[in-house]
Amino acid sequence: MAMETPREREIAAEDSIKVVCRFRPLNDSEEKAGSKFIVKFPSGGDENCISIGGKVYLFDKVFKPNATQDKVYNEAAKSIVTDVLAGYNGTIFAYGQTSSGKTHTMEGVIGDPNKQGIIPRIVNDIFNHIYGMEENLEFHIKVSYFEIYMDKIRDLLDVSKVNLSVHEDKNRVPFVKGATERFVSSPEEVFEVIEEGKSNRHIAVTNMNEHSSRSHSVFLINVKQENLENQKKLSGKLYLVDLAGSEKVSKTGAEGTVLDEAKNINKSLSALGNVISALADGNKTHIPYRDSKLTRILQESLGGNARTTIIICCSPASFNESETKSTLDFGKRAKTIKNVVCVNEELTAEEWKRRYEREKEKVARWKGKVDKLESELSRWRQGETVKPEEQVNLIEGPDVTTPITASVEGKLDDSPMPATPGGGLMIGSLSNEERQKLEEERERLYQQLDDKDEEINQQSQYVEKLKEQMEEQEELIASARRDYEQLQQEMNRIQQENESAKEEVKEVLQALEELAVNYDQKSQEVELKNKEQESMTEELLAKQVTLNNTASELQQLRDMSAHQRKRIAEMLANFLKDLGEIGVAIGGESNENLKIAPPESNGKLEEEFTVARLFISKMKSEVKNLVQRCQGLESFQVDCNKKVSEYEKDLAECRLLISQHEARMQTLTESMKEAETRKRALEEDVDALREECAKLKAAEQVQAVTNKEKAEEKEAATKMRVALEEQMDQLRDAHQKQVAALRDELSEKQELISELKDLNQKFTLAHQQMQADYERLKQEEANKSVKLQELMLLNERREQARKDLKGLEDTVAKELQTLHNLRKLFVQDLQTRIKKTINAEDNEDDGGSLAQKQKISFLENNLDQLTKVHKQLVRDNADLRCELPKLEKRLRATMERVKALETALRDAKEGAMRDRKRYQYEVDRIKEAVRQKNLARRGPSAQIAKPIRAGQHHLSNVNAIRTGNRGKE
Ligand code: ADP
Ligand code: MG
Repeated sequence: MAMETPREREIAAEDSIKVVCRFRPLNDSEEKAGSKFIVKFPSGGDENCISIGGKVYLFDKVFKPNATQDKVYNEAAKSIVTDVLAGYNGTIFAYGQTSSGKTHTMEGVIGDPNKQGIIPRIVNDIFNHIYGMEENLEFHIKVSYFEIYMDKIRDLLDVSKVNLSVHEDKNRVPFVKGATERFVSSPEEVFEVIEEGKSNRHIAVTNMNEHSSRSHSVFLINVKQENLENQKKLSGKLYLVDLAGSEKVSKTGAEGTVLDEAKNINKSLSALGNVISALADGNKTHIPYRDSKLTRILQESLGGNARTTIIICCSPASFNESETKSTLDFGKRAKTIKNVVCVNEELTAEEWKRRYEREKEKVARWKGKVDKLESELSRWRQGETVKPEEQVNLIEGPDVTTPITASVEGKLDDSPMPATPGGGLMIGSLSNEERQKLEEERERLYQQLDDKDEEINQQSQYVEKLKEQMEEQEELIASARRDYEQLQQEMNRIQQENESAKEEVKEVLQALEELAVNYDQKSQEVELKNKEQESMTEELLAKQVTLNNTASELQQLRDMSAHQRKRIAEMLANFLKDLGEIGVAIGGESNENLKIAPPESNGKLEEEFTVARLFISKMKSEVKNLVQRCQGLESFQVDCNKKVSEYEKDLAECRLLISQHEARMQTLTESMKEAETRKRALEEDVDALREECAKLKAAEQVQAVTNKEKAEEKEAATKMRVALEEQMDQLRDAHQKQVAALRDELSEKQELISELKDLNQKFTLAHQQMQADYERLKQEEANKSVKLQELMLLNERREQARKDLKGLEDTVAKELQTLHNLRKLFVQDLQTRIKKTINAEDNEDDGGSLAQKQKISFLENNLDQLTKVHKQLVRDNADLRCELPKLEKRLRATMERVKALETALRDAKEGAMRDRKRYQYEVDRIKEAVRQKNLARRGPSAQIAKPIRAGQHHLSNVNAIRTGNRGKE
C-alpha cells in the first residue's frame, strides 16, 4: 500500500501556482452563428498577455488558437515530469467552460502523435525519463482513475466503487481511500487503464456529453522510486484533472435535472472558486477545503506541497465573452496563490538518526534559550528592568525553516485557530495542556469524520451493490412482467377471439335453429305442396304427354318448316339467281347488290324469315321492275313485230321488184339473144357478102386477065361494082350503126343487169340480215318469255311459301294458344280442386250459402295469398337450400376455428406456465450467481506491484520486474 513519507520540511520552497491560458479556435457553429473573435494577443516576445474588451490579463503563458498540442505540452507541462521524478507532487488541471478545449488539452486523441494531449505525453515522457535514468533506481508506478460527480467519487477502474471517501494520511495529506490502484510498467498499460476507465464511464451514463461537462475526471499517477544503493526513497503524486464545465448550470441545459441535482452539479466547482479566492485573499485564515471532495483532493495542489499548473481554456467567441472573462478572472486569482513545495523523501535509519541528533541539539538550544527567557521574564516580573544588552535576542532562532513549517501547517489546517510563527508559544490565553487537548480533540473529530466517511463509503458501496442487485432484479421482474403482459395480452386476445368465435358460433347456431324451424315449417309446407305437386305432376304428366305430342307435332312442323325453309332458301337462291340472271339479261346493274348468302340451314327461323322477307320485299320491287321492263319489252316487241311486218312488206316489194327485174332481165337476155342471133345473122350475111365479094374479086381478076378486051364490061362491072360497093358500104354502115346501137344497148343492158344484180345482192343481204335479226329477236323473245315464265313460277312458289309460313305461324300460335288454354285449364282445375276440398271442408262446418260464398271468396283470397306465399316459400326454400350448404360449411369452419383457438389457448397457457417456471429458475439462478459474486468480491484481491528499473527500456520490463522483486526481497 501507499508508502508513508514524512515531509521533508527543510528543503521546502515557496512556489507560485503557474497559470497558462489557452484559446481554442472558433468552432464551426460559432462561425456559422457569426460570432466574432474578441480576444487580442498583443505582439511581443513573451506571449503571456491578452486583452479582451480593453481589459488586459497577464498569465505565465498564453496559447493562441493555433498553438499545437506539442507546444502546449512543452511549455506548460513538460517540466512537471522531471519534478515528479525528483519527488515533488504535481498537479495540472484544466479549467474552463464546456467545449472550451479542456479535454482536448488534457487528453486529446490518445495515440495520435499530433493530437494527443498532456496526459499521454506526460505518461510517455515519464517512462522515457525512467528509461534514461541511472540503473540503480527502481520505480513503482501506479495509477488511479476516478471521477467526481455530484460530490461523489466514482472509481472508474471499479464500477462498484461509487462513493469513495477522502481520508488524510498521517501527514495530514488527503487521499482517496479505497481507490483502485493499478501498477503499470509501460505507457501502453497506462493507456489501457485509461481506456478501461473511459469505457466504464461511458457504460455508467446515458448522455456522455452532458455527463462529462458536469463531472471532474481525475487521473492520478503515483511514482515511487528507490535507490537500490543507498535505499533513498522518493515519491511524487501527479494529479491530472479535467474539470467540469465552469459555466453556470443553466447554460448547459440542466433544466431537466432536479433542483437538488442542479445544486450539487457545480458545488465542487464553486468550492474550488471559494478555496482559490480564500487563498488569493492572503488574509483569510480559514480555507474551506472541506466544502467539497474536489477541493479536498486538490488540497495539496492549492496552497500546499505541489507544483501546480492551471490551464484555463477559453473560447474566443463573442458569444462566450462573459464566460471567458470569468474564466480569465479565475485564472488571475489563482495566479496569486503560493504553494510550498518540498521533496517527498522517505528517510533512511541513518538519516533519521542524524536528524534526531540535530533535533536534539536544537531542542537543547531551545531549552537554553527558554531558560534564559524564563530568567529574564522572572526578572521582568520582579519589577527589574533588564538592559537591552541582557535581553534575549528573539529574532535569532535555532531553525530558520520553522516559521514556514508553521505557515504550511496553518494552511493545511482547517482549524479556526490563527496559525502564526512561534506556534503554541504565542497563544498566551491557552495553556499548553489545553492546546494539546484541543489538538487531540480535533484529531479525534477528524478521525471520527474520516471514520464516518469510511462508513458512508462502505454503506454507499453496499447500497450501490444492493441497487445493482435491485436493478438486476427489477430488470428481471420487468422482463418477466413484460413477458407476462405479453402472454396476458396474447391470452386476452385469444380469449377475445374465443369469445367472438363463441358468439359467432352462437349466432350461427341461432341462425341455424331459426333455419331449422323455418326448415321444418317449410318442409311441412313443402310436403303438403309436394303432395299437391304429385297430383299435379300426374296431371302434368298427362299434359306432358299431350305436350310431347304437340312437341312432336311441333317438331314435325319444325322439320317441315325447316324443310320449307330449306326449300324457300333454295327457291330464294334460285329465284335470286334467276333474278340475277334477269338482271344480267336486262343489263341493269341494280340487282348486283342483291347478292344472297346461302341461308344457313340451321339458322334461326326468325332471322331467316326476316332475311326472306327482306329478300321477298326486294324481290317484289325487283319483280315490279321486271314487270315494268317486261311491259317495256313487250311494247318493244310489238314495235319490233311491226317493224318486222314492215320489213316483210318491203321484202315482198323487193321480191316483186326482183322478179320484175328478173323478168326484164329475161326479156333483155332474150332480146340480147335475138340481137346476138341477128348479129350472127348479120355477121353471117357479112361473111356471105365477104365471100361473094371475094368471089367477085376473084371473078374480076379472072375476067381482068381473060377479058381484057372486055374493058367495057369491066367498066360496066366496075361501075356496077362501085355501085355495089356503095350499096355495100351503105349497107355496112347501116349494119355497123345497127351493131353499135345494139352493142350500146347490150352494154347498157349489161350494166343494168349488173346494177340490178348488185341491188338484188344487196336486197338479199338485207333480207338475210333482217331474217337473222328477226330470228334473234324471236329467240330473245322466246328466252324472255321462258324467263318470265320461270319468274312467275318462282313468284308463285314464293307466294306459296309465304302462305305456308303464315300457316305455320298460325298453327304455332294456335298451338301456343292451346297450350296457354291448357295451362289455364290446368290452373283452373287446380283451383277448383282446391276449392272443392276447401268447400268440402266448409260444407261440413257451415251450411249458410251467403256465409259459404263469403267464405269461398275469403278462401279464394286466402288461396291466392297462399299461392303467393307458396311461390315465395318455394323460392325461399330454393334460396335456403342454396344457403344451407354454405352455412353448414361456415359452421364447420367456425367449429374448426374454435377448436384451433382452444388448442392455441391451451398451448399458450402451458407455454406461459413453462415460461414462468423458467423465469423463476432464471431468477433463482441469477440470485445465486449474484450471491456468489458478492461473496467472491468480499474476498481479498491482492495487487501485484510491477516495479520498473531505470535505464532499461520497457521491452525488458519482465526482467526488471523479476529483478525488482528479488531486490525487494
Ligand atoms: P471541453 O472538454 O472543455 O468540454 P473539448 O476539449 O471537448 O471541450 O473541446 C470541444 C471541441 O473543440 C472538441 O471537438 C475539440 O476537438 C475542439 N477543440 C478544443 N480545443 C481545440 C484547439 N485548441 N484546437 C482545435 N480544436 C480544439
Ligand atoms: Mg471535456
